[in-house]
Amino acid sequence: RREPLGAGQLEQALCQAADVDAQMEQLVGLLELSEGERRLRHLLVTLFQEVFSEFFPGCAVLPFGSSVNGFDAHGCDLDLLLDLEPTKSLQTSARGAPGAGSSGDPGAEESILSDIDLASASPPEVLELVAAVLRRCVPGVRRVRAVPTARRPVVKFSHKQSGLAGDISIDNRLALHNTQFLRLCGEADKRVRPLVYAVRLWAKQQGLAGNPAGGGPLLTNYALTLLVLFFLQTRSPLVLPTVARLRELAGDEDRVVVAGWDCSFPRDAALLEPSANSESPSSLLAEFFRVFGDFDFSGQVVSLREGRALPLPEAGEPFKLGSLNLQDPFELSHNVAANVNEKTASRLGRCCRAAAKYCRSLQYCRKSTKGRGWGLARLFQPGAVEPGAGAGSFLISIPLAATRPPEQLCEEPGGCGFKEICAAIAFVLRDVLQCGCAPGKPQKQVGGSGAEQSLPEDPALGEEPPGDAAGLEEEPPQPPVGSKRPQPDGTDSAALPGAKRPRVNGPEEEEEEVAASWSCAVWHRVWTGRRRLRRQLLHGASPEEPDGDPLELEQKVSEAIVQHEGAAQPPEPLLRFEASARLAGGTQREPRVLLRLAPSPAPGPLFRDFFHFLQAFLPSALRRHLGWGPGAAP
Ligand code: ATP
Ligand code: MG
Repeated sequence: RREPLGAGQLEQALCQAADVDAQMEQLVGLLELSEGERRLRHLLVTLFQEVFSEFFPGCAVLPFGSSVNGFDAHGCDLDLLLDLEPTKSLQTSARGAPGAGSSGDPGAEESILSDIDLASASPPEVLELVAAVLRRCVPGVRRVRAVPTARRPVVKFSHKQSGLAGDISIDNRLALHNTQFLRLCGEADKRVRPLVYAVRLWAKQQGLAGNPAGGGPLLTNYALTLLVLFFLQTRSPLVLPTVARLRELAGDEDRVVVAGWDCSFPRDAALLEPSANSESPSSLLAEFFRVFGDFDFSGQVVSLREGRALPLPEAGEPFKLGSLNLQDPFELSHNVAANVNEKTASRLGRCCRAAAKYCRSLQYCRKSTKGRGWGLARLFQPGAVEPGAGAGSFLISIPLAATRPPEQLCEEPGGCGFKEICAAIAFVLRDVLQCGCAPGKPQKQVGGSGAEQSLPEDPALGEEPPGDAAGLEEEPPQPPVGSKRPQPDGTDSAALPGAKRPRVNGPEEEEEEVAASWSCAVWHRVWTGRRRLRRQLLHGASPEEPDGDPLELEQKVSEAIVQHEGAAQPPEPLLRFEASARLAGGTQREPRVLLRLAPSPAPGPLFRDFFHFLQAFLPSALRRHLGWGPGAAP
């Protein structure tokens, strides 16, 4: 089983490429399934087919989704359709035959089907049956659970040896055809796959897309892919044909109607007209962000069938209007993005605008000769080009689930133990890592500061424009986050959880957020040699007090580094940065604290080392300090 590439490895590999087009090409190679992974999936499908055939004679197990649509990535789930229609027909004819019940179809007689009539069974009953077969009869299958309430009911499972997660649906033939459609688009033009992979990874890193099987407000990868395909249908000249045009190109053998929806399109990409469009993948990516950064998602319907945005349908039509209206290419009454809430839709717009802006910068277009992140590598850094990340600032995302068991997450906005976490952040920086950490001074405003990004006129000015303005966003000036007075309760003078303020992040942000900030100074290289010192300190020393502070050892490690470097405080700190924390992601789903570090002067390699260390160290230290799980020391 191949482990997915770590973010750092991916970034490193991408930085070696010659230009962004090469990065995009390389991205596909880095993420797509290897031959071995494909074989494994194939073997699993064969195993399922064998087992299910025993119980449901004539059934077919058919993969769909990312395993077969051409947009596969390491670890992507295995979507399977269990087609029971042939079994139902067999069962019906066997029951209707003379002597049925005792000497019908031999397969059916042995199977559990003798107890259940598939044609009249309810979907939850069939799902339970499928789940029972999976649990009892498929070796290596774990965590089987039926989800009958989903729009398309599924049985979820995971496979122990391969680590694969999968879904089995029993009634979703349309999925087979939309999978073929995606596959066709990926084969139609060689720019499609690199573009889809880049947008998928970007959206994942931004927390815009995920796989909300049981609902949730994020885009599914399917929805996101359709957005990319739609975009390619709207270029001039177009890169991909509309679905209506594909229908005209379909041969007789491609004519299919499923559940009343016309799914006719050529199954063979060789039948398509080549595109006259000559835009490069990297400029298409930049254009994707520009177009959707300025797109009215709620006021029109994205139609792949027509390759243009349509006016909203009249009230009373079955199409479920939402904050993002994206019509399925075949099931025209289905809004593929109906689950996407207002907050996600407006974040999508903002993130696209920030990315579009980044794509106009030199860091996007030109390879860094100083070993810094550039092009896609930087685009994919979580938060690096997030709206409001501000000039040269670095974000550490601390999932609250990582610090706190889900059952302890509190429901009210802003109440996720934020204050406690802020106090803990200050404690880790100041006491554990021996950094200077004082209550925050007023911060530089993030937007409207005049630091509008533009390419330097003179390339000799340097490849990274001063101010590193990637990610600046057209937000109204924010009130200084750190200008609040310390908490009167004095629980922690370094942590300044402010009052709840609405709309910290601009007018589109609908949820209240809370912010705290600190001015920090790093005097010693507390991120180097920790592992060795930890070992030395543990060796011979009395074992850690079970009741003592679990971070005591880490504190001693920092002290040892400080002593080693010479206990006297140097005249100037190695690094200075402003840190601010805010709550993001809402309280219902994936709430997290975003810690923003804004170094001054502009960040150099030393700051980047510190930042990478803190990114790994902080969540684990917080978890241990707050007593929520052991958290291995990085
Ligand atoms: P991954 O599994 O890596 O997230 P994927 O390409 O399999 O990516 P999914 O979002 O899992 O994409 O979608 C798989 C299939 O499930 C799609 O081909 C589609 O048939 C169906 N599907 C997913 N999301 C939706 C949706 N919002 N509406 C309708 N069908 C969907
Ligand atoms: Mg999938």
